[in-house]
Amino acid sequence: MFTSNLQTDMGFLKFFNLLMFLLSFFATQPTFSYSSSFTSKFLDLAKEPNVADWMVDIRRKIHENPELGYEEFETSELIRSELKRLGISFKYPVVVTGVIGFIGTGRPPFVAIRADMDALPIQELVEWEHKSKVPGKMHACGHDAHVAMLLGAAKILKAHEKEIRGTVVLVFQPAEDGGTGAAKKVLDTGVLENVSAIFGLHVTNIIPLGEVTSRSGPLSAGVGLFEAIISGKGGHAALPQHSIDPILAASNVIVSLQHIVSREADPLDSQVVTVGKVQAGSAYNVIPDSVTVGGSFRAFSKDGQMQMSQRIEQVITGQAAVQRCNATVRFFKPFFPPTVNNGDLHEIFRSVAGSMLGINKVKGIQPLMASEDFAFYQEVIPGYFFLLGMENASVERLESPHSPYFKVNEDAFPYGAALHASLAANYLLKLHQEVPVVEGKYNDE
Ligand SMILES: [Zn+2]
Ligand SMILES: [Zn+2]
Repeated sequence: MFTSNLQTDMGFLKFFNLLMFLLSFFATQPTFSYSSSFTSKFLDLAKEPNVADWMVDIRRKIHENPELGYEEFETSELIRSELKRLGISFKYPVVVTGVIGFIGTGRPPFVAIRADMDALPIQELVEWEHKSKVPGKMHACGHDAHVAMLLGAAKILKAHEKEIRGTVVLVFQPAEDGGTGAAKKVLDTGVLENVSAIFGLHVTNIIPLGEVTSRSGPLSAGVGLFEAIISGKGGHAALPQHSIDPILAASNVIVSLQHIVSREADPLDSQVVTVGKVQAGSAYNVIPDSVTVGGSFRAFSKDGQMQMSQRIEQVITGQAAVQRCNATVRFFKPFFPPTVNNGDLHEIFRSVAGSMLGINKVKGIQPLMASEDFAFYQEVIPGYFFLLGMENASVERLESPHSPYFKVNEDAFPYGAALHASLAANYLLKLHQEVPVVEGKYNDE
């Protein structure tokens, strides 16, 4: 009896474990089911030469003529001429060179998809047919690809405009990389006031072509930049007693700044302080008057950022004083907030990307210490940012963004365009299913 009871118990336990496994399995699977015409069919469309090759042509044109932040005049002109050709209405200028397009009913709900447009002050070292024609400037972060893919999405969405349950807002944003917070300026124009959700992507060499990666919650850190001038009294290197040496003070400042993270931050709350700029002196036998020290600091919360900025200022002025120097510290505002992905949009992303690429191609990722000004949108609009894989190791290994050897794998474009289009269209479809929109007169502009 005991044995048979035990066997029965064991049998029940096995059944119970199986039940729990199945429950947990289904609990982690995407729960939304979306229109396949907005997922696999969009990808098929994006792979057709009139979309795929067209995106490649656009990207190469932009790549040959890179423009820095707020100077993207020809890039903007190219975007507008393509939108006109597609019959897509737009607003321009939005923050100098920005373009905001509209596809769909022209009425709520509104969902935005965003691309950045700016290049970097880097000399391209890749030798190829479409190398940058502007000395010292290069699309080394893939923003040329981002523009091309957003235009690809626009073309796909325009072809399905009648099926769109609301309005897709195309955001071509200037100056992502300059550290000036252009995304905040776009928000300040009010052009995204009625937008219910915003999606953005960045190409990456850290995952293979055909895969995407992101996470719910914090994806990348917030960042702030600082610059300090430490002033002493210059003089002859042989007579330090007649000088006040700012280089020694700066050395102590740099070492002490590293103690903020190592001794004051919670080890489980990631933070970074990096001094990336030190400028002083021009002779071997002269103590200079002053030293400029600059750097960046990163954290995953606004409180963390504020606290770090306070301590950076205290450490710099305090350590300078120890060496009889004066210091002034300047912070470049606004600080970039952390990029925090909305949990509901994460589910939509997993569902849409999973049905388009296969759920095994939708990867998770640890939070990154890099920053992205898309975070400004996420402070006021539920937003979702993800990385689009383009590594194809069998062909070549790609360099990281901001390298003069940076290359884009153009085979990734159909995936990026289709995902942009599908996320926007499916998001609106979901809203439509949940909250039927009351038809009525609505003036957006
Ligand atoms: Zn960049
Ligand atoms: Zn970038």
